[in-house]
Amino acid sequence: MSTESSLRADIVEVGRRMYARGYTASNDGNISVRLDAARLLMTPKSVCKGFMTPDMMCITDLDGRKIQGDRDPSSEALMHLEVYRQRPDVNAVVHAHPPTATGFAVAGIPLDRAVLAEVLTTLGSVPIAEYATPSTSELPEAVRKYIKAHDGMLLANHGALTVGLDLFGAYYKMETIEHFAKISLVARMLGRENVLSREEVTRLQGLRGAYGIKAPAPICPEPAAAPDAGPASGDATCQIVQAPAGGGQRLVLELTRGGAAPSPKPSAEADGEIRLTYRELSALIEEAIRSLR
Ligand SMILES: [Zn+2]
Repeated sequence: MSTESSLRADIVEVGRRMYARGYTASNDGNISVRLDAARLLMTPKSVCKGFMTPDMMCITDLDGRKIQGDRDPSSEALMHLEVYRQRPDVNAVVHAHPPTATGFAVAGIPLDRAVLAEVLTTLGSVPIAEYATPSTSELPEAVRKYIKAHDGMLLANHGALTVGLDLFGAYYKMETIEHFAKISLVARMLGRENVLSREEVTRLQGLRGAYGIKAPAPICPEPAAAPDAGPASGDATCQIVQAPAGGGQRLVLELTRGGAAPSPKPSAEADGEIRLTYRELSALIEEAIRSLR
């Protein structure tokens, strides 16, 4: 059982790591943990998370009222409170702005492709909660749609949020999301992103039990009808993972440069985007230039 003083020290350490890894700049980000059934320990407003001391933390009740502390609670306290309300199993919440994952959040690209086995067994998928003004009640509302089924999510045009059974569990999920985002970015820059088959995704989901991983919801059995998780009609109840049936398919076509095999016809891929080969793109540009003359 963690004592209050050890939890204060743990928040300081998590804040230090987030700042050191560039997940936050200036006073960004916030961290909280349950002290007991009625109280939370939380980072204060307007401090750099890299240079906190244990005495800076605030204690609040589950409605966000300050019980103890010289400073005011985090400006994102409402978002943390919503998570604790929706997820009785969660004991810690971490919010940061890791740059690569936040880049995906700005581009509106969820991290939901079946690419890395570890991510599929732990987080499943990382959806994007729709944009909401930070520190207002809009943000907890946006988070509510996904939090029952996900331990990590991107916040559109803002950052990322992770939760866990304990503080370091929540923090490591933030590391996983940023790591996953970096790998996805590199694969896409290289022009090829091989994705795992739906059969393999099902197999990996089976490993959750074997490794004692407590996922808040299963991976959705069928490919998404609505690609962006479609909780417009309600809260997400499973984790949408983009994985083709049958295996061996790719979501992103390999770029064919030079005299490679005949190019495939431009096609709408699983995510609805149309991708051209290098040769097709060159031909289109040449044609456009000709018609300008
Ligand atoms: Zn933020």
